[in-house]
Amino acid sequence: MPAVAAWEPLAEALGAVRRIVVFSGAGISTESGIPDFRSPGGVWTRYNPRDFTFAKYVASAAVRQRAWRMRREFWGAEPRPNPAHLAVARLEAAGRCRGVVTQNIDGLHQAAGSVRVVELHGTSREVICIGQRPRVGTPAGCGFRAPYTWAFARIDEGHDDPTCPDCAGIVKSATVSFGQNLFPGVLQQAVELIGEADLVLAVGSSLQVYPAADVPAAAVRGGATLAIVNDEPTPLDDLATVVVRGRAAGVLSAAVEATLTPAT
Ligand SMILES: [Zn+2]
Repeated sequence: MPAVAAWEPLAEALGAVRRIVVFSGAGISTESGIPDFRSPGGVWTRYNPRDFTFAKYVASAAVRQRAWRMRREFWGAEPRPNPAHLAVARLEAAGRCRGVVTQNIDGLHQAAGSVRVVELHGTSREVICIGQRPRVGTPAGCGFRAPYTWAFARIDEGHDDPTCPDCAGIVKSATVSFGQNLFPGVLQQAVELIGEADLVLAVGSSLQVYPAADVPAAAVRGGATLAIVNDEPTPLDDLATVVVRGRAAGVLSAAVEATLTPAT
């Protein structure tokens, strides 16, 4: 008898439920070449996160110029969804998954075909106006929003601190920076989506960044079961019915394939 593969208990758990909600973190995207902020060689070993607080971004054109350079580096090689993102999208298309709550800002769930995605920390695929003097921690601009390529095009034209074309306010990636509040309503959307789950599938999240990590914990308190795929232990492992240690792409694609393929 071959040993049971690591993903098999996960396939069994997914097969037993109808309303999966995925909660994803950086680990689902590392295999797309996006560095985890915390990993060795990651972006934050070359840029100091303390330089990129919301308050400093608002206060300093030099900080903004550095932030745009960092974004350039971050997105140098256009990242693509990997088999883990594709497996999640497949679950939704098959009517087995209600949607995704993600801590990631990379837009790769949507690129893979996921439709209902709540981005807790915003998206780096777009930039927004945050006004000329935004309140500390809260961006409140004029409503201007554009793809991130708009900002890069402005920079290429020589405007290394691009400003809002409508109100001349500060432009920032539509992400949640250090010292910045979550966008209004987002946490509520996440709680509502995850409240539909009979199983929360947490993938590639250390489940340590709050308030984001409280979302799956709340679902478990509400009666959902929890499955975790992560390459390191998490504080919620004891609450989970299935824990798979491993890389997301291999584990998820195998488990979802087995779940969606009728037994013969
Ligand atoms: Zn504006």
